[in-house]
Amino acid sequence: MRHRIAVVGGGPAGLTFARVMHRHGHPVTVLERDAGPDARPPGGTLDLHEGLGQVALDKAGLLTEFEALSRPEGQAMRILDTDGTVLRDWRPGPDERTNPEIDRGQLRDLLLGPLDVQWGRGVTRVVLGTGDGARVDFADGRQETYDLVVGADGAWSRVRPALSPVTPHYTGVTSVETSLDDVDTRHPDLAQLIGDGSLAVYGVNRSLTAQRNSGGHVKVYAKFRAPLDRHSDLDPADAEAVRSRLLALFDGWAAPVLDLLRRGSSFVHRPLHVLPVSHTWPHVRGVTLLGDAAHLMPPLGVGANLAMLEGAELAEAVATGPGDLDETVRAFEERMWPRAGKWAQITTAGLERLVSPDPTEAIALFDQVQA
Ligand SMILES: Cc1cc2nc3c(=O)[nH]c(=O)nc-3n(C[C@H](O)[C@H](O)[C@H](O)COP(=O)(O)OP(=O)(O)OC[C@H]3O[C@@H](n4cnc5c(N)ncnc54)[C@H](O)[C@@H]3O)c2cc1C
Repeated sequence: MRHRIAVVGGGPAGLTFARVMHRHGHPVTVLERDAGPDARPPGGTLDLHEGLGQVALDKAGLLTEFEALSRPEGQAMRILDTDGTVLRDWRPGPDERTNPEIDRGQLRDLLLGPLDVQWGRGVTRVVLGTGDGARVDFADGRQETYDLVVGADGAWSRVRPALSPVTPHYTGVTSVETSLDDVDTRHPDLAQLIGDGSLAVYGVNRSLTAQRNSGGHVKVYAKFRAPLDRHSDLDPADAEAVRSRLLALFDGWAAPVLDLLRRGSSFVHRPLHVLPVSHTWPHVRGVTLLGDAAHLMPPLGVGANLAMLEGAELAEAVATGPGDLDETVRAFEERMWPRAGKWAQITTAGLERLVSPDPTEAIALFDQVQA
């Protein structure tokens, strides 16, 4: 097999695809828009599930290295009432490895390993029907042609329009993110409040969560229901203005909980967008999608897991399958769509319950997942 294959995007989906192809002796071209691996902050911690992300890492031959890096203690979850009362305080047992956490940067480096990523190669579109395969157009004006282009370029995919006219829509929920560094030494009271893993507080149509990353770094997420343009008057770079708006929004909550916002450094505004549940497309020779590009869903701990599993499964099928590349891709899509649709349904319903007019819905969801 010597097909010309490119994957657009070096996130969890694209890197897992490339790494499993590499493991089977079939290097592929990885086209990534970022100028380098450290061009922007990698984002918060990810929990990789036993039946999803961990399966992908196993297919990539990286499970042992993952086990050494990951934080099983990060599975701990504490839920507080808005007045600070502890409602749930769940800690994993000593051998509990169902969903251990790993920093995104660590996961990226693990997947990158020997891969030769082409950094700074932003794709603008994929054009089909040019006769010699799928043509990739780049932001710098260059063009290259491949037998298969795998679009793993995330929510705002530039590959997706070659297959589907659908674009992400706003869920009605916005997330504003901030972070704390060296929490154990600089904010020991908050370190104690958060514990080893995550802390969550649910109010009416809003929630605050704090998640430990490695090295004493904590990410804090304020989620609330609001029209997309509700806070458009705020300059996201004006941290004090964003902070005081958030403090007003969470007014009346326990002081230690609000300290997560008071002491956070800069703020990132992330209105949550999704693709329609069960997004599919008519199969087309020469191009396919993985991960968020295919099925962007609410961030409830599944997206990266699915993205990686899909990357690993497609790579394994292409590298070890009977030979017809187009039939292999078609069969992969048929398997991917129903599974992604099921998770999109679950996470969409989950977001409704986590940011709900009735905060007891969030606790009930937690109890349901634990049972
Ligand atoms: C706050 C938050 C918390 C989350 N927590 C979890 C969690 O705990 N567990 C979990 O499983 N999921 C989680 N998710 C979801 C998860 O982040 C995504 O589902 C996952 O990153 C999708 O991976 P991907 O590779 O498909 O896309 P992405 O991670 O978006 O990667 C896409 C890559 O493509 C590159 N790219 C984009 N456009 C182009 C272009 N035009 N040309 C070339 N390259 C391009 C980007 O630079 C990027 O490197 C969370 C999401 C958010 C927002």
